[in-house]
Amino acid sequence: MIRYSKQSINNKDISEVVKVLRSDFLTQGPKVIDFEKQINKYVGSKYCVAVNSASSGLYLACKALGLRSKDSIWTVPNSFAATANCILNSGYKIDFVDIDNYTWNISLKKLEEKLIISKKKNNLPKAIIVVHLGGLPVDPKQLKYLSKKFKFKIIEDAAHSIGSKYYKKNVGSCKWSDMCVFSFHPVKIITSGEGGCVTTNNTIYYKKMMLIRNNGITNKAKEFKNKKPGPWYYEQQSLGFNFRMTDIQASLGLSQLRRINYFVKRRNNIANIYKKTLINLPLKVQKVDNKYLSSYHLFIIRLVDSYKDKYLSFFNYMRKNKIFVNLHYLPIHLHPYYKKLGFKKNDFPNAELYSSLALSIPVYPDLTSLETNRVVRIIKNFFKYK
Ligand SMILES: *Cc1c(COP(=O)(O)O)cnc(C)c1O
Repeated sequence: MIRYSKQSINNKDISEVVKVLRSDFLTQGPKVIDFEKQINKYVGSKYCVAVNSASSGLYLACKALGLRSKDSIWTVPNSFAATANCILNSGYKIDFVDIDNYTWNISLKKLEEKLIISKKKNNLPKAIIVVHLGGLPVDPKQLKYLSKKFKFKIIEDAAHSIGSKYYKKNVGSCKWSDMCVFSFHPVKIITSGEGGCVTTNNTIYYKKMMLIRNNGITNKAKEFKNKKPGPWYYEQQSLGFNFRMTDIQASLGLSQLRRINYFVKRRNNIANIYKKTLINLPLKVQKVDNKYLSSYHLFIIRLVDSYKDKYLSFFNYMRKNKIFVNLHYLPIHLHPYYKKLGFKKNDFPNAELYSSLALSIPVYPDLTSLETNRVVRIIKNFFKYK
């Protein structure tokens, strides 16, 4: 069975983890601090907060904004549930913006139209969470322009896109955003088992997130609000939780980070083979403009509209041929939980149409050329006999 994505672990990764297991620190310690430093260095950000998942990271980012319960954050329906859940978990209102029919990312045109309407109603969102689907960045300059015009903050859900670039900058540098969240789940670009982080250049957001990660507690004497009575003292200053990453995870993340450019290159090589060999078939792929580099966390193929009734048989055919394709994503607003909040079918038609036609085919560093060719052959065969 060839999966759509999986981790690439070498002996060095294993020995780095074993070293930590033999050391004094298992939970958050020097490896986490080093991992944060190396992430900052790699993406070009000032601060990094490592956490136990990107879901936690998204929650931290939402909380750091410090909004009120009547404030809203908008995001896209075409993502993993965590992208939306963080908004509700933070106690804010949620709404969605439909996707673009070519990039399958947020439609900035639809976003602007929706902003104009909500400005008239005096209920502009306080922040937007964008997702760089499969590693393809949303145009950061155009988004920044809108954020200045309509006064909202930008959180990048970059779970797919460590290693992606826009206008020669790394995603995560936060040059055009307020905070950026990465995931280190095994299917993503680099892994720490489970894990994630938030990067930012904003000192206030950074400090807030550092507190929330650790049950709202600080050990730093110069941050204490009370007078320090003795060396035993620590202080809880906000409400938080245990969102900490372990040194075990950070050591794996650090070791993986050394190979990130190789990982992204391998993923791009495979994507280029797909793009060359799958042309002339009734399907579409993401077009990567030359101002971007995609990490290619996902290689998504989308059947043309007229093949809609073939989707199920195509999906089943791929899995029967031992290619474990997946759909990224079911529209979030159509999950029963979100329907209960009032969202319904046809609210976001582009995302709904996309999800009835798209599937992710295998792309990961250890995918061999033999396997890549097999994927291509199997896809071609489907269309030959249809
Ligand atoms: C994987 C993913 C997440 C959640 O990441 P975890 O580290 O598993 O919590 C969030 N958003 C998107 C777009 C993802 O793909």
